[in-house]
Amino acid sequence: MHAPPLPAGIGRVIDAPEQMAPFVRDWSGHRIGTARCVVQPGHTDEVATLLRWCSAHRVPVVAQGGNTGLAGGATPDASGHAIVLSLARMNRLRAVDLANNTMTVDAGMVLQQVQEAAREADRFFPLSLGAQGSCTIGGNLSTNAGGTGVLRYGNARELCLGLEVVTPAGEVLHGLRGLRKDNTGYDLRNLYIGAEGTLGVITGATLKLFPEPAARVTAMAAVSSAAQAIHLLSLGQQLLGAELTAFELMSAYCVELVGRRFPDTPRIFADAHPWYVLLESSDLQSEAHAVERFEALMTTALDQGVIVDAAIAQSQAQSLQFWQLRERIAHAQPRNIKHDISLPISRIAEFLGTMEAVLVQAYPGIRIVALGHMGDGNLHYNVEPAQPLAQADFEALEQRVHRSVFDVVEAMAGSMSAEHGIGSAKTGDLRRYKQPLALALMRSIKHALDPLGIMNPGKVLPEG
Ligand code: FAD
Repeated sequence: MHAPPLPAGIGRVIDAPEQMAPFVRDWSGHRIGTARCVVQPGHTDEVATLLRWCSAHRVPVVAQGGNTGLAGGATPDASGHAIVLSLARMNRLRAVDLANNTMTVDAGMVLQQVQEAAREADRFFPLSLGAQGSCTIGGNLSTNAGGTGVLRYGNARELCLGLEVVTPAGEVLHGLRGLRKDNTGYDLRNLYIGAEGTLGVITGATLKLFPEPAARVTAMAAVSSAAQAIHLLSLGQQLLGAELTAFELMSAYCVELVGRRFPDTPRIFADAHPWYVLLESSDLQSEAHAVERFEALMTTALDQGVIVDAAIAQSQAQSLQFWQLRERIAHAQPRNIKHDISLPISRIAEFLGTMEAVLVQAYPGIRIVALGHMGDGNLHYNVEPAQPLAQADFEALEQRVHRSVFDVVEAMAGSMSAEHGIGSAKTGDLRRYKQPLALALMRSIKHALDPLGIMNPGKVLPEG
């Protein structure tokens, strides 16, 4: 705890408790830690100076971007030993290479600013998620974020060609190359992506850019079952190909919750249906072309009995309304037990049926809030207790429900963390469900890249 004073040349230091408060608690407000101080470097050199000092004095470092992560990865523990390294001041656009379709940015650039900078360059950066006004590209890469465009463009990993990383020893790995082919040995970039700040600090990234679609059109479909939603996905991919850029599933209960919490939400269908799908098509020709293609898809789906009703957005405003319905689900749910899981798409309907039967039998009265990026096999499968519970009872139930859900996910060859990562929230589950050999190899990598164990200790890898 008694390290010498911080060195010069590390940027802004915040150590007043009230100013540190937003940096030591997570987005949900449920995880709260403490820290020695918060440091906000302005340049890569300042990050390197800080990490050299942290290594010399064995001071743990918690890298933090927008602090929107949902697994507790950016929150320091309660010991007060760690320094929170906030990338917030490192938010510059470094370069755009139009011929190469790439853009190089500081890691602390907010995702929405990255999207806007791409648009100003007449290009499109497709990573898109509910927290995009606050989360940073460094955080997106460190959690390998997914979001709503994965179906067509892949997750953060697939959108990154190069990284600049500061190692725990304070050395700078210069990997900002915009290469689509580079087979020169082990892929270090891909080790840092998804590492949740446990191996080094990402300070810059070279990102892939795409042509800006001429039009983005959204549609809603009502389906009688999750199995029919999967048929619609296949049909959509067959008829729209790469134009189909989002495919989001929502249960009737999700829509009911949004209606209750946000009564101004417009009603899309006259009748209620068991499931809804939000589809987005990105068209390189025109809006009229996109609408025409969507109409053809929906007509075929209706004729084949795959869907029971459909609405194609008639304006950008209506498209936004459809997306707003989807995004409001996150804010409309009462406190519930959350799971961010993925499954082979072919097993999603089976999972939903099996899981609900197991849970309803074990815990009568519970409600399932099921939604997700179904086109990527990713479900946000949340379980609402039958009645409000005291904290200790909630946590006890949470443990049991997690176990039931993850056991079924594992039996169906799925993943218990699709896009939110492990952080501090799921280290125990990782120990339970990851193959021991995979865990041992992960520990070897951690030891090789962070031999002193100062990078985000206690996150991702279970202790012991
Ligand atoms: P932080 O929360 O600050 O950090 C996350 C992790 O990355 C921590 O472990 C931290 O130590 C590490 N880290 C941060 N920056 C760096 C860096 N520069 N170098 C090394 N390590 C670093 N996620 C999805 O994948 N898909 C979604 O659709 C989605 N929707 C969301 C909607 C809402 C409303 C909210 C609140 C969150 C959502 N998330 C989603 C989760 C979250 O926004 C993402 O995980 C995001 O990528 C985190 O970025 P951040 O900058 O906020 O990172």
